[in-house]
Amino acid sequence: MVIAIDGPGGVGKSTVARRVAADLGLAYLDTGSTYRAATLIVLREGIDPSDQDGILTALDTHRIDYGESGVTIDGERVADQVRTERVTANTSAVSAHPLVRDRIVAIQRRWVDSRNGRAVVEGRDIGTVVFPDAPVKVFLTARPEVRASRRARDAETGTATVDEILAALEARDSADASRSTSPMRPADDAEIIDTSDIDIEGVVGAVLGLVAAFEASEPEEIEGLGR
Ligand code: C5P
Repeated sequence: MVIAIDGPGGVGKSTVARRVAADLGLAYLDTGSTYRAATLIVLREGIDPSDQDGILTALDTHRIDYGESGVTIDGERVADQVRTERVTANTSAVSAHPLVRDRIVAIQRRWVDSRNGRAVVEGRDIGTVVFPDAPVKVFLTARPEVRASRRARDAETGTATVDEILAALEARDSADASRSTSPMRPADDAEIIDTSDIDIEGVVGAVLGLVAAFEASEPEEIEGLGR
């Protein structure tokens, strides 16, 4: 069973998804890191982020994977390198290309298959495109200023001010929500949770409540969840 957790940056997706996965004994996949890894390859090789064919050729010669310590390129751990401002600023452009998305989504689906289809998967299009049949779908939101001040507490935003972080978040949201392929949006059957005024415990509890409600309606899935 896949639990899909989507939403924009700064809503607490990663923390919530990790906690839910740990609680349920499921694998956890951060799909944003796979697009970030593709972007790191693009930047390392000096490819123009608008050049879809160039990106596809580069992806042919590298292997992106995801392990215990995060995302890897050809086995090299790049979890920290993919979180620099330069990679963050270029990822929306790289991930907007339909054929690039096809490649990266194939990696994500294979990864979940290799975990027997049992995972908490975090991203922008998991409930709509990557795993549209996921029985539990959550779309997290939060007021932009709340998201920016949360991000300001992350080491990766360095010395940027809250206003600068807010502007960058809004630019990324608008690029991710307006692209023609797999735009960021809640699935029709997703539960939308506004995390602005709820702490992490509360959000995790709400997601676990949705899982429990699903289990109650589909008892045979309890065994599948390993609980
Ligand atoms: O979640 P994170 O901030 O790491 O995502 C980085 C970028 O990767 C997003 O801004 C978006 O452009 C892209 N992304 C995507 N689809 C996903 C996950 C991330 O297009 N499922």
